[in-house]
Amino acid sequence: MSLRFEAIGNLTSDANDVKVAGSAKITAIFGSNVFTLKTAREYLSDEAYKSLSNSIKGGKKIDRAVASHIANGIRAWAESKGVTHFTHWFQPLTGTTAEKHDSFFTLKGDGTAIEEFDGAALIQQEPDASSFPSGGLRATFEARGYTAWDPSSPMFIMEIGQGKTLCIPTIFVSYTGESLDYKAPLLKALEAINKAAVEVCHYFDKNVTKVTPTLGWEQEYFVIDEALGNARPDLVQCGRTVFGASPAKGQQLEDHYFGSIPERVYAFMRDFEQESYKLGIPLRTRHNEVAPAQFECAPIFEEVNIAVDHNTLLMDVMSRVAKRHKLKVLLHEKPFAGINGSGKHNNWSMATDTGVNLLAPGKTPKTNLMFLTFFVNTIKAVHDYADIMRASIASAPNDHRLGANEAPPAIISVFVGQYLAKVLSDIEARVGDKFDEQDEAILKLDLHRSIPELMLDNTDRNRTSPFAFTGNKFEFRAVGSSANCANAMTTLNTIMAATLKQFKKDVDALIEKGDKKEIAVMHVIQKYIVESKKVLFEGDGYSDEWHNEAERRGLPNMKTTPVALDAMVTDKAKHLFESNNVYTHSELEARHEIELENYIKKVQIEARVMGDLAINHILPAAIKYQNELLANVNGLKAAGLPESAYASQLTILKQISEHIQQVYSKVDGMVEARKVANKLEDTRAKAIAYCDDVKGKYFDDIRYHVDKLELLVDDPNWTLPKYREMLFLR
Ligand code: ADP
Ligand code: MG
Repeated sequence: MSLRFEAIGNLTSDANDVKVAGSAKITAIFGSNVFTLKTAREYLSDEAYKSLSNSIKGGKKIDRAVASHIANGIRAWAESKGVTHFTHWFQPLTGTTAEKHDSFFTLKGDGTAIEEFDGAALIQQEPDASSFPSGGLRATFEARGYTAWDPSSPMFIMEIGQGKTLCIPTIFVSYTGESLDYKAPLLKALEAINKAAVEVCHYFDKNVTKVTPTLGWEQEYFVIDEALGNARPDLVQCGRTVFGASPAKGQQLEDHYFGSIPERVYAFMRDFEQESYKLGIPLRTRHNEVAPAQFECAPIFEEVNIAVDHNTLLMDVMSRVAKRHKLKVLLHEKPFAGINGSGKHNNWSMATDTGVNLLAPGKTPKTNLMFLTFFVNTIKAVHDYADIMRASIASAPNDHRLGANEAPPAIISVFVGQYLAKVLSDIEARVGDKFDEQDEAILKLDLHRSIPELMLDNTDRNRTSPFAFTGNKFEFRAVGSSANCANAMTTLNTIMAATLKQFKKDVDALIEKGDKKEIAVMHVIQKYIVESKKVLFEGDGYSDEWHNEAERRGLPNMKTTPVALDAMVTDKAKHLFESNNVYTHSELEARHEIELENYIKKVQIEARVMGDLAINHILPAAIKYQNELLANVNGLKAAGLPESAYASQLTILKQISEHIQQVYSKVDGMVEARKVANKLEDTRAKAIAYCDDVKGKYFDDIRYHVDKLELLVDDPNWTLPKYREMLFLR
């Protein structure tokens, strides 16, 4: 019996076999596995506590001597919770998290066994990381990198089965200081925007000393039965199905969306939520998504740095907890063709240490002008750096989603809603006018009263926009479900920092010429609206008209990853990232190289899996059925029946033969195309060859014939679980 039927047969017993974790009150467990400042107060000396808290709040360095005191306190806390090991936890560019566990246990010179955790081990580690991608950086500079403690993200205890490990969030850098992970540049970008935004805030409020960008992500994912998933080598190896005919019932009824959550999935959700709460991840919403077997969860927003860690942690926790439920979580952007893919909306704003959300319309003329400043600067940033934004979300799996009539297009545009669009065009219409202080209409924009209207305006229509204003934050919707949010966040915060810096210069120049502050601000806002209005789009982003219109407006539309990534290494990008101290030229080049290599590898693996499945699963099943039909036809013929008695069988036979020939010759062609691509030395050229000549010329074609065969071949012979089974059986 094939794995497919075994999995289907076991479904009911497997599903009911799972023990659901008890559900505790959230407040009772929230953050119980996190070393918070409150915990620190309890376990650290005054001096150690002060040093840690200063470092978290003000980014102050912790010296080695104090680090040892801190380490002792942390060990005491961790041991009280049954922890035996610790690890430097980091986020390398492979797209997952990395850990190397060390024991607290150590032997002293005289052979006595003790438990120890010193400051040095807390601050710095050298993972044997020579096989993490470095885009050639370490080859040039230094063979190894090291991880360094990031006190701004709290430590936590990861429970895996019975084992408990203390995880220390770290950044991963080379000995010469180049970043090798997602977190180091993110922290730099956050510093850049903090500086730039604080200066701009001072036009309106001198009390602001810190601006912290905030992120609330929404994670979409699929959940399927684990055994069914394991019977699909493509899901196991690529995270997506490379073949599969559309089921009679897909998502056309939309009966899954906001329907009741299936019980087995509900148990899984409650379980991973409990684990998340212990880790301090403030999950708040859960619901079904549009596609069958698709779901979403979202937390309360947090500081970007913490939110990024929590998202990567959550993806990890979900995958682990799913195993307990004999389920499989699919985080891939497009696990099933013809069915909606998954994204990860990044809701983003900036908060001041005076408690103001800079993207929330204010209640007074002054705060409104501050809102308008940050609002318009964001639009300008996205306009000026749309190509770099696009590059920040480019990946092989996201290519399947962007522009596929279910997700935002690869064209970066900004949706602001009718009301604010009108505000902007009113301001714009006054080009050449002199604003004066008495200018009620503009300076006293009574934006806050329009919030309800604004919300009403955010109908489904704006779901087609890759970057939308949603009342008090922008929502970057083109981020892929499996992506690390850090990439998009590093870019968004850097372009915002650059734009705000320019804004400050422009306003100061006018003030120097004698403009009053508010008037100068207003003039620059007006100038920015004029310069960036072509990125504003209120209509249907999925429509063909928009693609044409965008082209007329000269907005970039990079449909595939290898070319979208070009924007990372232009002079503009190098200047942007270097002048904001986020990436050096060589770091950017290295990252570009790594992204291209990731792309090549992913497409290469898919191509191989396609070939394997076609030859080992599809063709044998088709040939077997062909033989059965043939025996049948011959039998009928031998019995003296006229051709009309087996005409249908002959038709099916012919069709199957045709598809078999096509699959075989196309797989052959794909292998040849791969060989040609593999010979290319230049990474970019190779990525483009994989994109256009391997994937572009063969994937859809091979799939077409395989999916036709699935519909022709008798069901029991078909070894791969079908869409209707993966999507609907649980
Ligand atoms: P929708 O599905 O309509 O987009 P959700 O409620 O699912 O809305 O998600 C909204 C997300 O935006 C939540 O994660 C929420 O915490 C986040 N959010 C709200 N305010 C802010 C803010 N100021 N900064 C960042 N994220 C925010
Ligand atoms: Mg959303």
